[in-house]
Amino acid sequence: MSINSRLGGDDEHLVDYLKQKQTENPSFFYATGEQSNGNIFWVDPTFRTNYNYFGDTVRLDTSYKAHHHMPPLVSITGLNHHGQPILFGCGLLHYESDSAYTWLLQNWLHAMSGNHPVSITTEPDHRIQMAVAQVLPQTRHRFCRWSIFRETHEKLAQTHPTFHEEFTKCVHETETVDEFESCWQALVERYILLDNEWLQSIYNVRHQWVPVYMKDTFFGELYPTEEPSVFFDASTSMQSLVKQYESAVRSWHEMELKADYETANNAMPLVKTPSPMEKQVAGVYTRRAFLKFQEELVETLANRATKVEDRGTVTTYRVDKFGDGERGHIVRFNGFELKAMCSCRMFEYSGIICRHALSVFRAKNVLTLPCEYILKRWSRDANVANNNNNNNNFQEEEEEESNLCLRLRKEAMRFVEEGAKSIHIYNVAKDALQVATNKVAASKKRKTPEGEKEKKIRELRSELENTNERCGVYRANLLAVLRDMEEHKLKLSVKVQNARLSLKET
Ligand SMILES: [Zn+2]
Repeated sequence: MSINSRLGGDDEHLVDYLKQKQTENPSFFYATGEQSNGNIFWVDPTFRTNYNYFGDTVRLDTSYKAHHHMPPLVSITGLNHHGQPILFGCGLLHYESDSAYTWLLQNWLHAMSGNHPVSITTEPDHRIQMAVAQVLPQTRHRFCRWSIFRETHEKLAQTHPTFHEEFTKCVHETETVDEFESCWQALVERYILLDNEWLQSIYNVRHQWVPVYMKDTFFGELYPTEEPSVFFDASTSMQSLVKQYESAVRSWHEMELKADYETANNAMPLVKTPSPMEKQVAGVYTRRAFLKFQEELVETLANRATKVEDRGTVTTYRVDKFGDGERGHIVRFNGFELKAMCSCRMFEYSGIICRHALSVFRAKNVLTLPCEYILKRWSRDANVANNNNNNNNFQEEEEEESNLCLRLRKEAMRFVEEGAKSIHIYNVAKDALQVATNKVAASKKRKTPEGEKEKKIRELRSELENTNERCGVYRANLLAVLRDMEEHKLKLSVKVQNARLSLKET
């Protein structure tokens, strides 16, 4: 089928529109022509700017395929700091094939200066799978599980009405691979569906859609059970495509501005605990990201952390919820680096620290959240350079700021390692730490004439609080080293005494 027989003059109208956009702004990118087999793809300069800030996880939306009346509108979207969809690329795929998807992704990657995302979510389609493997080999590819749920429901709801609920639980509520595997096996056996072709086919690609297999990768989902929003409404028709496209972009942009405004103008939720950590995060995150964090923090009140193993710098805890006999989670805590890695991998998957790691922080009196657990992409300033003409120097400054925390921590680590080498050095180190703490406190009190440095000062202040907390932990560790040395000294003197006695006897 030719483009014109399917679309009439609409296609021409769209290309004219894209040409005009490029005349207005040479950075506007679009691709058409012989090689594209009649397909069209475009990237607005604002998509590229958004991608610079939120290009960690993307979604290739081809949901038009489920609606036969829809134009073949394909979009590449991401998530902004409010968890709202944002557009990274748009196209019309009149001819679907491996090469069409490859062409689309290649053009998109080219427009994004070759920067691969960490992860991509697409419909479960082997043509898309081939194209992603070819163009984005370093990117973790996930199939949209909502499409799989929908199709499973369509195929089995009539014959097995209660299956879907159990199936959803098996996918969403299992936390380890073994748990999922045995749950799946029990489920298909109970419903006598071992030979069901559809279930067999989705089981064969389980590594690409079942959460337990992908928890080590960032997908930006704050609530894994929540269905993702789509950028374009299903009512979009080819006849008014340009209008609908512009309206969708405008509408999402307005929603982002509204969310920015609400976050900036004290429409933040009330803090629910006296924890300094909650106050700290409320001042940094967007409303939506904060709400998720708050939910996790409040849950720590119902969780207890029990030490199960102590191996010097790394202590292992088991975190259980009181009362309901829930399975425990294992958290490995590094007291020197203030790192807590939980078996639920929520931080790796969503970028928000989980209740289990927070329970360990609480048990260890870590009162402010270490900065590596505050992702810039969820902060209210995540796209701050947009408001500053995207100046390169400014971007460099932003990157510089985000490195401050890391650099300071490395210096502190070196300091602790050196300081614990002997009792004499320990005393020198302790005094030096006090002097440094006083100096930082004094600089905190000084007024800053340059307004543009205020943000940096705020972050330094938060870093200072973190450092103070860390100093507490380091002090405790240094004292433990000191105690060990004293003990060792005592044992040695007893040995010397015994040796003397035995010499006398002989
Ligand atoms: Zn956890």
